[in-house]
Amino acid sequence: MTRASKPPAPPAPPVDADVATRLATVRGVIEGAARGVGRDPATVSLVAVSKVQPVEKIRAALAAGQRVFGENRVQEAKAKWTDLKAEYPDVELHLIGPLQTNKVKDAVALFDVIQTVDRERLAEALAAEGKRQGRLPRLLVEVNTGEEPQKAGIAPADVPAFLATCRDAHGLEIAGLMAIPPAEEEPAMHFALLADLARKSGLSEISMGMSGDYDLAVRMGATQVRVGTALFGERVKPVHEGEA
Ligand SMILES: *Cc1c(COP(=O)(O)O)cnc(C)c1O
Repeated sequence: MTRASKPPAPPAPPVDADVATRLATVRGVIEGAARGVGRDPATVSLVAVSKVQPVEKIRAALAAGQRVFGENRVQEAKAKWTDLKAEYPDVELHLIGPLQTNKVKDAVALFDVIQTVDRERLAEALAAEGKRQGRLPRLLVEVNTGEEPQKAGIAPADVPAFLATCRDAHGLEIAGLMAIPPAEEEPAMHFALLADLARKSGLSEISMGMSGDYDLAVRMGATQVRVGTALFGERVKPVHEGEA
């Protein structure tokens, strides 16, 4: 496997910096990356990935003005965010982890954006639950740009057909595409592929870029970057992949 062909990581704040300082650093990097390619920084949304992080750090981010957050598990998000969302009604909460159909009800009630629509059964369940609750989060389709067998997401070649199925068979409006490139690969080609797919599909939202490469993602057209460790520090507990 080829290693170390990844881009240099964006400048990171000192490890002991507080959340407000880290936020300012990350916002500065986004602004610089956007301006560098002639984009308005306001067209890039910073999704602060707060999975596994303690509520005090989330509160620090809220106090510093951050309002868009991402969580990867429905139950954890429900426990952490039910009260916080009541307290901060302008918070926009994104689900960025896999969604099981038996958690669709909770997910539709809690999240403002679901970034991980990755199969027809889920699209069908979301459409039905949206009707039941009279509310539907904004939806992004997850694309498996690296075609990794263990990873969720629609294969790039199948994206147009899947979008048509969401729209025509289930009446779902899809706002954009999201991808998590293979960990050990140069992300640029995956970012380019995702941005190209979104453009060809006429979709405005492009969710790509994490702590190690969000500046590159912004330069390549991301409208949403999902940043966790650069904002909150290392996650202390392991994240349970495959559970939402
Ligand atoms: C955890 C996670 C992130 C954030 O990763 P960092 O490297 O901590 O910035 C972004 N996207 C998804 C889908 C994640 O699960």
